[in-house]
Amino acid sequence: MPAQTTIRTVMSPGRYVQGPGAIAKVGEYLAAIGRTPVIVADDIVWGFVGHDVDASLKAAGLPVIRDTFSGLATAATIERLVGVVKDNSADVLVGVGGGSTIDAVKSAGHLAGVRWASVPTVASTDAPTSALAVVYTEQGAFEEYRFFPRNPDLVLIDSQVVANAPAKLLAAGVGDALATWLEARATAASGSATMAGGLPTMTGTALAKLSWDVLWENALPALDAVRDHAVTPAVEKVIEANTLLSGLGFESGGLAAAHAIHNGLTAAPQAHGLAHGQKVNIGSVTQLVLEGAPTSEIRDFIEFTTRVGLPNTLTEIGLGVDDVETLQAVAEAATVETETIHAMPFTVRPADVVSALRSIEGLATRVRAEAGLPAPVKYLAHH
Ligand SMILES: [Zn+2]
Repeated sequence: MPAQTTIRTVMSPGRYVQGPGAIAKVGEYLAAIGRTPVIVADDIVWGFVGHDVDASLKAAGLPVIRDTFSGLATAATIERLVGVVKDNSADVLVGVGGGSTIDAVKSAGHLAGVRWASVPTVASTDAPTSALAVVYTEQGAFEEYRFFPRNPDLVLIDSQVVANAPAKLLAAGVGDALATWLEARATAASGSATMAGGLPTMTGTALAKLSWDVLWENALPALDAVRDHAVTPAVEKVIEANTLLSGLGFESGGLAAAHAIHNGLTAAPQAHGLAHGQKVNIGSVTQLVLEGAPTSEIRDFIEFTTRVGLPNTLTEIGLGVDDVETLQAVAEAATVETETIHAMPFTVRPADVVSALRSIEGLATRVRAEAGLPAPVKYLAHH
């Protein structure tokens, strides 16, 4: 898909704040953005951070207004949040929690005509920094990307809160962020448009590569530390790579096959219980196969992502090589005209995706056996 533009562009959040205890400064940073924030956080998240957010808002002279939104960002839940903004005459909507809460907040903030801020409590996706949201159907399938003219005015992430969450969520974020370089590399090679609506800049592409390098160096020690809920320099680096570098890298560097295959996988009910970054990792391995990447590169990627705790076989996501009908549906969804798979530097047809998806099963099973790594088992039963 050649880009219909010669414009290059980068988008970014107004401010990024990260560190242990950062949550206690949320009021201070929000006071620079608006006078009447509405905090969107479910009861579980509020149980972890509610005390600090409440105290911080009061210290900054801001009212404490919370909506208990939970679930997926759907057209209906977004509309409801628009109503909450209007009912409270809010001027900034603040998503505290995971990717769905934050995507719903971005969509609702934009529709309501107010500012919005991301306060992720996990580093499991790069959604918090971007100016787009993924909206799902009531059944949990990918519906559409919604694009906004602005990124969040603030992205604030408390490293200790992230380290207190289960390590598998940080691992999922590593899966989302590793795809960023593979996709930015393909987008640069094809000269396709990025999610920011122009050609990739050197900046976007370089940040995607930096995210990749940081993760190969730090992901495994960071996961070790987070299993003990410890914040170390490696944890800080992985949080920044997962959240900021990957966010800037995908938005201004471009998405390609990996995320299109993720979106296709949302059409398979078997994969519904998986995290975004887990499905994206299946997309990354499949993209490497589609592009005929060097065998050593594919082998290294499979070994590394197995050690991180990410799926790289069909078995792990509840599918098999014989599920031809489901794989065909995934491939059809991944290759619709609007999908980013057409940013690959060659034509990708549904049959190519089916073949690549089927091939990763035997490929990854063999690579893992040769490396002395565990054979694949279905994820949902074990994680
Ligand atoms: Zn993603």
